[in-house]
Amino acid sequence: MTSLLKIENLHVNVEETPILKGVNLEVKAGEIHALMGENGSGKSTLAYALAGHPKYTITQGTVELDGAKLNDLDPSERARLGLFLAFQYPVTIPGVKVADFLRHAISNIRNPARKEGEGLVPMREFRKELKEQMGSLDMKTEFARRYLNEGFSGGEKKRMEILQLAMLKPKFAILDETDSGLDSDAVRFVSEGLTKLTGPEMGVMIITHHERLLQYNIPQYAHVMMGGRIVETGDASLAEEIHNEGYTALRERHPEAAAEQEQVEAVTQ
Ligand code: ADP
Ligand code: MG
Repeated sequence: MTSLLKIENLHVNVEETPILKGVNLEVKAGEIHALMGENGSGKSTLAYALAGHPKYTITQGTVELDGAKLNDLDPSERARLGLFLAFQYPVTIPGVKVADFLRHAISNIRNPARKEGEGLVPMREFRKELKEQMGSLDMKTEFARRYLNEGFSGGEKKRMEILQLAMLKPKFAILDETDSGLDSDAVRFVSEGLTKLTGPEMGVMIITHHERLLQYNIPQYAHVMMGGRIVETGDASLAEEIHNEGYTALRERHPEAAAEQEQVEAVTQ
């Protein structure tokens, strides 16, 4: 059976302010979707709401993964069902090494009933897997001994997110502006990493402004968000149109959504 992430009429508030106003989207395993839109259109809000961030309250609509309703599940339960979110701004955890973090993360997902101190993926098995994945991503082994994101450059943080993706092998990955503010080496790393990792088993939603990322990972679908709704869905040519021409024409085609987006910005700034 092909896995399906189904978002229906999703309304989300951020601290009382309605941000998402009826998002409909289906992502199947094996598909790459690009989610685009101007700043403040609600892209990260959608990503956080899917992952279960407590500040983002679903007020209407449903999110389902293979028929299981995610709305009321906590983030770890969603992760166990196969959802992964790469953060726009990953957190630093001094004192926790990359390897230890990853071993716990994959153990939590593979042995959901495990108690603290038990049920960890055996060290040998874990090391072998980590070595293989880091090798295929062309990462130096010493990276695994560093503290999570501490002193990492923007590019290294993105490498970390891609390595997590490689180890966790989720059914659905949401990558939130994994490429923003990155130098071209880092964008290439993310692009090539994604190309290696995506396949018929994984559905991907890339939230991006970056042309390069979408050239490496050609999306079957591109969606444009405006004022908390998806106003247009097309194929890779829609993404290309936006790169070439910006959002002016889109705003003109969707004046109501454009007006709503301006309102939200006024409320929250
Ligand atoms: P995008 O990722 O498309 O740039 P966001 O989802 O981050 O857009 O933001 C959409 C709107 O929601 C913006 O107006 C933003 O100010 C508001 N918003 C997002 N997150 C928060 C938050 N944690 N607190 C208050 N307002 C927020
Ligand atoms: Mg964002």
